[in-house]
Parts: sequence; structure tokens; C-alpha cells
Amino acid sequence: DEFALRAAAQQFAEDGIDVVRIGYSDLIGTERGRDVLAARFDRTVGDGVAFCRSVYATSPMGDVVDIAGGLSAGLPDIVVVPDLATVRPVPWEPGVAHVIGDIYNPDGSPSEESPRQVLKRVIDRFAELGMNPVVGPELEFYVLEEDETKPNGWRRYGDASGNVYVAGLKGDPENTLLASLRDLAAYGLDVVAANHEFSGGQFEINLWHSDALDAADRAFRFKSAVQEISRRRGKMATFMAKPFNDEGGSGFHIHFSTADGEGRPLFDDPNGADGLSDIGRAAIAGVLAHAPALAALNNPTINSYKRFGPDTLAPWLVDWGLDNRSAMVRIPPERGRASRMELRLGDASANPYLAIASLLAAAYLGIRDKLTPPAKLEGYGYDPTKADRLPSGLGAAIDALEEDKDLTDLLGPAFVETFVAYKRNELERFSHWVTDWEFREYAYHL
Ligand code: GLU
Ligand code: MG
Ligand code: MG
Repeated sequence: DEFALRAAAQQFAEDGIDVVRIGYSDLIGTERGRDVLAARFDRTVGDGVAFCRSVYATSPMGDVVDIAGGLSAGLPDIVVVPDLATVRPVPWEPGVAHVIGDIYNPDGSPSEESPRQVLKRVIDRFAELGMNPVVGPELEFYVLEEDETKPNGWRRYGDASGNVYVAGLKGDPENTLLASLRDLAAYGLDVVAANHEFSGGQFEINLWHSDALDAADRAFRFKSAVQEISRRRGKMATFMAKPFNDEGGSGFHIHFSTADGEGRPLFDDPNGADGLSDIGRAAIAGVLAHAPALAALNNPTINSYKRFGPDTLAPWLVDWGLDNRSAMVRIPPERGRASRMELRLGDASANPYLAIASLLAAAYLGIRDKLTPPAKLEGYGYDPTKADRLPSGLGAAIDALEEDKDLTDLLGPAFVETFVAYKRNELERFSHWVTDWEFREYAYHL
């Protein structure tokens, strides 16, 4: 409201903030927004800042997809309203504060397709059960440097193998990871640790757990911030799922549990099988039961499905296990307040709001429908006779999402319809694109 906006404008002046960057998530998780001068923040923001609805429909290559209410409706406005609870000064850009926006329709109703609104809707369903979902995101990514001699123009930063878990200049020769960790902490993202991953130039940074919306906001900001910090150092960070043929993909692991109204952990039961409660087991069962549809939102690109496979530490089958990194759902060994599941399905290219919303929705359905999980995986996974395979590609996952009526109802039918249209367009464009693999395979001998 007006009073809050004026108070915010005054606060910006006191804090030496002259520009407010309003950022929101588009469908694929890319941050969009506008830089607004802080001096008259109240006047500029008023009832919200208008954008063209094509932001839901424009692909990275610039195609405008015909979504409902989009092109054919003359590309009307959407309105972005800053959530003032999320204002944070940007430590590496003095004078700038960042705030997350919520997307509304011009009539004031929440935009059905807004990824942040999709998540809020699912959180509301947990609230009806007296439950509060708690989420801890972990994101992997590659840092790249420009290199004209490489086929795609980029080489891996610090390019070296065998550096998993090494610290310091050996795997991070210019302290880019260290600087990122410090900047992200100063930005208030509650990051806790950074490490070198299995491949040269691949890193992971962990975020502490918190309420699902706050965790998703932090993961969303994290991706933009890591890209921004890398750019400032002349590098490119990419959250693409599987950028290199011979190197591992980048995962987006999500730790998840629920608490009751008093903050008591609901997945824990010292007398239950494996120390888990019935609610915890039902949540696991829900995630397994809805896995093919979950893939559409946790593995949302054509490239995502190249990360899956036996012997990758990424999943390949729909399974769960106790402290087992070859399973899709890993139950970490801690119990008590720390009883939780780790969904290892997602890759870093996923939109954090949608990945988390879909995980919550599947767990909710498991709890609501009192599902019981199948037998857990023992030992090394990746035996396709023991569990179902994940969808083989984006097309199959999108079909599964569309067919999963219960999940669609929870996420919002209008959102699913738009997401499916956007992704079908992506698949269609790719089906006509000649890749370098085809040339290598066919050009010479055929
Ligand atoms: N990079 C692996 C993945 O794609 C995960 C490796 C790990 O467990 O840290 O999920
Ligand atoms: Mg990792
Ligand atoms: Mg992990």
C-alpha cells in the first residue's frame, strides 16, 4: 500500500540506496525486472510495475510462443508488485537494493502462471493441514572462461580433473568460488558452504534450510547472483544441466521436510521403520508416485535428460534409499529435527520456484492419499530390473505432467497449460535443428 511504499522510499534514502532493482522469475527461472530510481519509489511503483505478458512466452532464442492470453490476446500487461519483505542491499553494487516481485493480472488477481504464486498456492495447501514445509537447496554449476579455440567458445575455469572437494587455489585459481561465497553471504542468502565438485570448473554452494518460500526466493536470487558475480570477474557461470559430454551434470538437490505449527519435525519417529514417521513415508511415496511429472519441472530442458544415467550420481530410476547417493530420493542419516528427504532428481537448470512447488505438491498428494513407499533400494542403484526408469526425454516428461491431473490441480491448470505450451514449442524447434552430433555421425560415411 501507499504508506508502506513511502516508508520504503524513506528507508532507501537513509540507507544510501538510489536504485531499486525489482526482479521476478519468468517461467524458466530467468530473472526479469526493472531498475527503478529510489527517490520516488512510491510514485513509480504505485499499484505495481507493468510488463508485457510476452515475458511468459519468449524463449531464450527469441521465439514468442502462442500461450493462452498471449499473442492472440494482443499481448496485454502483467503487473509486478515488489514484496517489501524481500528488500536486500546488493553488496557488490553499492547504492543498489534488490527486491523480489509478485506477478498480478491487471485486474489485481494473482497471475496463475507466476512461478512464485504457484509455490505459494502449494504452501497454502500444507497450511490447511497445519504443516509448514521446510526446504534446503543445493545447487551445482560450472564456471567458464571465454576460449576461441573451443568448439562452443568456452573452457572450464581452472580446468583440471580429480579436484573434487579440494579447497583453495588448486581448483579455484582466482578465488572466484571464495569471492562468490562471501558475496552471497553478504547478500543475506544464508549460504553455508562451498566446495569443488567432481569436474574441473564445477562447484557447489549449499543454502541453509528455511520456510519453502524463503528458500525458493534465496535459490532464485542465488542463481542470478552467481551469474552476476562471475560476470564481474570476466567469467560465465552456467546452471545448464549437462554442458559437456565427458563431464558430470549439475544437480539441484532439494532437502525437504515439514514441521507442525509449533515447529516440531513431522518426518521423524524414533519408533517408525527407519526412524521415519508415517507422514514422512507417505511424502516419499508421493514423490515416487508422481516422479514422471515431477521431472517436467525439475528437469525442464531437452539437455536435462542427458544428465541422467547409470553411474553418474544423478538418478536414472525412480527409487529411494537410506543415505544412498545412487537413488532418486536419498534419506540422509540424521534423525530428530534433521529427519528429511533429499530429492536428487532436479538439475540446476530448473526454476527453483517450480522445482520446489512440484516437490511439495507430490509430497502433499502422498500425505493426502496416505500412500506407502515401495521397498527401498539396497546398495548401488542403477539396476533397471528393480525400479522404473525416469522419463527418457523432455517430451515424455511433459506428457506425464499433462496426464497427472492431481498434480496439475495443485500447481494450477492455467500454469500447467502455459508451461506445457512453452515446452512443446521448445521441443518442436529442436526437432528441426541439425546438431554437431548428426554431422559427425552421418556426414562422412553415409
Ligand atoms: N553432479 C551430480 C548430479 O548431477 C551430483 C553429485 C553430488 O552428489 O554432489 O546430481
Ligand atoms: Mg554436489
Ligand atoms: Mg546433495
